[in-house]
Amino acid sequence: GEAEAALPRRGAGPDAGFPPEPVGQVRVRLLTEHTLADLRGPAACEVLTPEEVAAVVAKAGPDPLVSAGADAEEVVVENLRRRRTAVGRLLMDQTVVSGIGNIYRAEMLFRAGLDPHTPGRDLPAEVVRGLWQDWVGLLGEGVRTGVMVTRADLDEEQRELALTEPGLRHAVYGRAGEPCLVCSRPVVLEEMAGRKLYWCSTCQV
Ligand SMILES: [Zn+2]
Repeated sequence: GEAEAALPRRGAGPDAGFPPEPVGQVRVRLLTEHTLADLRGPAACEVLTPEEVAAVVAKAGPDPLVSAGADAEEVVVENLRRRRTAVGRLLMDQTVVSGIGNIYRAEMLFRAGLDPHTPGRDLPAEVVRGLWQDWVGLLGEGVRTGVMVTRADLDEEQRELALTEPGLRHAVYGRAGEPCLVCSRPVVLEEMAGRKLYWCSTCQV
């Protein structure tokens, strides 16, 4: 999923209250006395038996939190390059690669300068390896900070600021009609794989 925990803002006093009200379309909330995780906008959200869980895991594409080695990378290369489907759809297909979600999809394609409509089979293996390595890095950082900061152009100070300022986190995601940070043309919004896709039709070719 693409949940960002609805944690109290830094510096929030004891009056802030815990747990906070859910924000957005929360499908599942895991709650203990001291911490919580909200699941928002998942590709699927079902209650499964242990056997069904095993079947889903067996079918799932590589997940950097499970295996980030060269083998996983080559499986992703094969999964993407044997399909005619648009890369913007493949990145959301959990049998191709696990866990990317809507924000990372848009941002990874922008970072790679890739048109989301490019068929998987037209992608050079090196480009797919680059996407996978970017995903490994972004996910690791997201897990470490609890926040998805995907802009490549931020300096250290700005990155720190982006942890508390959502408006600074993304290059294209959520910025439909606003100027691209690189070429200043309006960021395009369309629907792909049932979700809003943000991209720059000038920078991503
Ligand atoms: Zn652009």
